[in-house]
Amino acid sequence: MKQVTASVISNREVMPEVYLIWLESPQIAFTAQPGQFVMARCGEETLLRRPLSIHQLADGAKLAFLFNVVGKGTHWLAQCQVGDNIDLLGPLGNGYSIHSESHNLLLVAGGIGIAPLRFLIDKTLEQGKEITLLLGAQTSSHLYPKNLLPLGIGLAETTEDGSAGERGMITDSFRGFVFSAWADQIFACGPMPMYRDMARRKQELKLEGKPVQISLEVRMGCGRGVCYGCTLKTKSGLKQVCTDGPIFALDDVLWDELAY
Ligand SMILES: Cc1cc2nc3c(=O)[nH]c(=O)nc-3n(C[C@H](O)[C@H](O)[C@H](O)COP(=O)(O)OP(=O)(O)OC[C@H]3O[C@@H](n4cnc5c(N)ncnc54)[C@H](O)[C@@H]3O)c2cc1C
Repeated sequence: MKQVTASVISNREVMPEVYLIWLESPQIAFTAQPGQFVMARCGEETLLRRPLSIHQLADGAKLAFLFNVVGKGTHWLAQCQVGDNIDLLGPLGNGYSIHSESHNLLLVAGGIGIAPLRFLIDKTLEQGKEITLLLGAQTSSHLYPKNLLPLGIGLAETTEDGSAGERGMITDSFRGFVFSAWADQIFACGPMPMYRDMARRKQELKLEGKPVQISLEVRMGCGRGVCYGCTLKTKSGLKQVCTDGPIFALDDVLWDELAY
């Protein structure tokens, strides 16, 4: 983990209220793994740093974040201009664990949940894995743009209003559940209700016996295991999302005891 000053290379709105920011930071890019995150100081706007997943790397020195503008910190980030400096702490947390014997990977991205999965796509394509990405959003304008995705992956889209892809929730798009049957491993990132639905309908969605890893985006204080603000009850005891996660096995989380 390093504390660095990263300079902004570009920052643009790629979906309504969702920005893609690229920064120069060889120190973080060098060791970052898919699923890890940074804590970003958002100017003087916020006392606490804000956690952001590493979205993509390029040229061994550049890294990108994809973020939704929801409050003071992300609003500040959206205003950053080329050449501005951002103080980052990272890479933090444990990333996704990709099993060497797994070939078929199903990635499930609910809304801004594509943020950590984009980096996982690049990494696993390099390893020669087959990837199917399920992208879900409320409406077509909130679907991650296809031109930001690499070639060579399978893609299925769903929108809640039916304006693109299949109509419905992303978990409905397991399409007769051929995708889950096909997958050797499943990686998901999305809102808590999506995870709860997957956990509750595990048998129906043919997820039983499949290794499913999820990224938990809970409120976080320090990001370094000091404040215990993101403590979570799991089947293997109390865990801190920042240092033990943010990646967890879907099966390990005690969903009924979760306050989120
Ligand atoms: C490990 C991790 C990785 C994350 N990666 C990303 C990412 O790549 N892209 C992205 O857009 N967001 C990501 N988040 C969520 C992001 O950190 C929050 O949206 C951000 O901190 C909000 O800061 P703010 O100052 O703009 O909003 P605040 O003023 O702090 O909050 C505004 C609103 O957002 C809600 N909110 C704040 N934090 C969270 C959170 N962690 N989860 C859900 N709702 C929240 C608040 O309840 C409130 O309603 C991640 C969170 C974690 C824990």
